[in-house]
Amino acid sequence: MSNYKKIPLSTPHMSAEGFEKKFVEEAFNSNWIAPLGPMVDSFEEEIIEYTGSKYAVALSSGTAAIHLSLKALGVKDGDIVFCQSLTFSATANPIIYEKAIPVFIDSDEETWNMSPKYLEEAFKKYPKVKAVIVVHLYGIPANLEKIVYICKKYNVPLIEDAAESLGTTYKGKHTGTFGKFGILSFNGNKIITTSGGGMIISEDKVAIEKMRFWATQARDKARHYQHSELGYNYRMSNVSAAIGRGQLKVLDMRVKRRRQIFNLYKNGFSKNPFIKLMPADSNQSLSNCWLSSVSLSQSNKVIPLIEYLEQFNIETRPLWKPMHLQPFYQSYDFLGDKTSDRLYNFGLCLPSDTKLLDIDISFVIKKVNEFFKV
Ligand SMILES: *Cc1c(COP(=O)(O)O)cnc(C)c1O
Repeated sequence: MSNYKKIPLSTPHMSAEGFEKKFVEEAFNSNWIAPLGPMVDSFEEEIIEYTGSKYAVALSSGTAAIHLSLKALGVKDGDIVFCQSLTFSATANPIIYEKAIPVFIDSDEETWNMSPKYLEEAFKKYPKVKAVIVVHLYGIPANLEKIVYICKKYNVPLIEDAAESLGTTYKGKHTGTFGKFGILSFNGNKIITTSGGGMIISEDKVAIEKMRFWATQARDKARHYQHSELGYNYRMSNVSAAIGRGQLKVLDMRVKRRRQIFNLYKNGFSKNPFIKLMPADSNQSLSNCWLSSVSLSQSNKVIPLIEYLEQFNIETRPLWKPMHLQPFYQSYDFLGDKTSDRLYNFGLCLPSDTKLLDIDISFVIKKVNEFFKV
């Protein structure tokens, strides 16, 4: 056991006011201890209000949200889906659930997210594409202007995986509201949590209602249990939604604090030539800075730095390993110049937990600079 205080990457952070407990108690008192219920309805409405979207369906996970979005776009056996390679596997796995074929697209240096250049190349190579999935990694918005433009040009719907970017705005609008569907996650490590959960936001009422139907076991309107379509048990529980409603009250505070943490790192490493910070606020955007991440000047320093920091109980981790490098996805096509390989090989996520104090972040900065002898 280390004598040092644990400095984690990101952990759940309930409100000091106890909003979450109050809503959970309300759920208990009403005996709505079930999937569905009034807390779920209110949580959906509050997310719509927060993001400026029109319709929403709360689900059991962000992964379920991606899955149903693909289904709603009619993705099926043998269809091609373009997917950002540098991401968490949950972005890509639902493509396989539907037996479709992922084609992975590289990132660019400017945004760390999907490269518009290689997206365009992919469209030239594959004339028939069912959907595009872009990700806003670590809260950094993708180059939405170009990506939305290209998808429109080829008339292919865009799914925004905004699981890590709730609270991020791009040109004044929330991420998740630029594509056909925006997907959110409330997993335990995300900027706000329901202990586990997800949501789809969209302007398409018919599609949202359809996904709600599928998520609720696809039960037809009949007194008996009748099913004319394949269903899923994907709805969010009323108790989870209660936690989410409380968390939503402090979301803006959490974004503010994550951005402060990012700026502490930025200042702390301003004289360290071996470290470059992620492009948080490119593209006239305000990132939620979910995880402050950096790129080192030497890839062979990543693991030694992680191990050095571990001695001081400082938790860090490499960036997501790109999908085209994953054993499971190796046989699928990839278009790019290996920017995502480089980001992965040189990158590192730093502690960004909102419960951390300024002195904790200063301690991390000090230890990192010490490691580089600057
Ligand atoms: C967390 C995450 C997901 C999956 O969300 P779950 O709620 O954990 O299923 C999908 N995509 C990205 C980029 C994520 O970080």
